Amino acid sequence: MKQAPVILLISVLALWPTPQTSHAESNPAPKRVSVLPVFFVPSDQPQPTVAQQAALIKHLRIAQARYKELLGGRDTFRLEKTPLVYVGRHPLLAYRPLPGDASHEFAAELLAHLKTDRFTCPYVLAIVVMNPCENWPAGGARPLNCGFNHGGGFVEVSSYGLDKNPGFQGTLQHELGHGFGLVHVDAYGYSMTDNESLMSYNPKHHTAGFEPSKTPGILIPEDIRALALNDRAFGKLEFKPSKDVPAGYKIQKIAQLPAWPIPGEASFEEDVAKREKGGSGFELFVGGKRVAYEPTWNRRNALARLRKELNRKSKKPVEGRFNGHVLHADEKGYQLFFNGVRVGHEPAWTMQQAIENLRGNRSRRPQMRVEGRYNGELILWAEPTGYELFFNGVRVGHEPKWTKEQGLANLRFNLKANAKQHVSARFEGVELRIER
Ligand SMILES: [Zn+2]
Repeated sequence: MKQAPVILLISVLALWPTPQTSHAESNPAPKRVSVLPVFFVPSDQPQPTVAQQAALIKHLRIAQARYKELLGGRDTFRLEKTPLVYVGRHPLLAYRPLPGDASHEFAAELLAHLKTDRFTCPYVLAIVVMNPCENWPAGGARPLNCGFNHGGGFVEVSSYGLDKNPGFQGTLQHELGHGFGLVHVDAYGYSMTDNESLMSYNPKHHTAGFEPSKTPGILIPEDIRALALNDRAFGKLEFKPSKDVPAGYKIQKIAQLPAWPIPGEASFEEDVAKREKGGSGFELFVGGKRVAYEPTWNRRNALARLRKELNRKSKKPVEGRFNGHVLHADEKGYQLFFNGVRVGHEPAWTMQQAIENLRGNRSRRPQMRVEGRYNGELILWAEPTGYELFFNGVRVGHEPKWTKEQGLANLRFNLKANAKQHVSARFEGVELRIER
């Protein structure tokens, strides 16, 4: 196959100097983390019904009671009573092809809506994505900031699953575990199909509607030990080896989940590094020099001040930071980011120029997180057209003019011819699947 033509970024901004400041960091992490039920409504999808809202709350209450039971009545997670119904910025099909079942984008929109960020978010967001036609997203979850006790988390399931999947309750208990930081049991060397933990995929744990399984999943000693590390979500839980570890059981070293990338924010590691240098609250830099520092401001005040500065049209680079990481104002035109760092800004470009540039940079850097913004909004529509082939997640070919049938034939051929590679393909940005 021919390689895709590569479009290079024409102009690249000089890197801004790193600001110097001696402000000691204060920890903005919330004292308590609770589970917030959320209905994420893509802009073309129906709002949740009263019955769906009641069903989600009932499922969460059952999961909350089950955690309490499994922890011997010592503690369980807190649950917010009223679901948040949030209408997304885009239609369902714009989210559908995004990596990680769009979880990064869902999290980014909700954090912005809640006027919080990965450090200050006091919730594990239990998100039901309104999608009445298919079980997408089927289930996924993470703590926002890796490991345990670093703040909030994220769970995503679909309204199709809520309505039609009899095992929804089991899925929810499992995904909430990830949201609090729990890993799959294979990280401890246990079987994913036979282990007793609700963090396995043991089919014996399958629930039926609101009814538990006759052989339900439990929390094994590693799970309890890990939850006890999460003081913000399980403040009363203490791990007691004499009580929590059966005689003869060899408890494994606790494993942790990585941080979740959030579009438009630097990675957790970059954020932490900047936070150690910078202050909390708002900082404004012009030409690399800190000209304003407001430790008590919220994000809204910070954005207003940053926009005012940008409107002055100074020739010097302007950068705002909130809680130590870059704040994005609604800047005109096109901005390009590599792994969360802005590498270019073209205020006069059209949307079409922006999309072409973003596509070129994405195909040239398949292993990097390449994002573009146009007039401040994240560009979701830059997925390449036609057929794309991937070996082990790296794009090896792109045929923009092929039909779906040509793509399927090519995928079948490559699945056979390259059996040792992980072969996958996309058509119009959506994963191609071969029915077996
Ligand atoms: Zn899982």
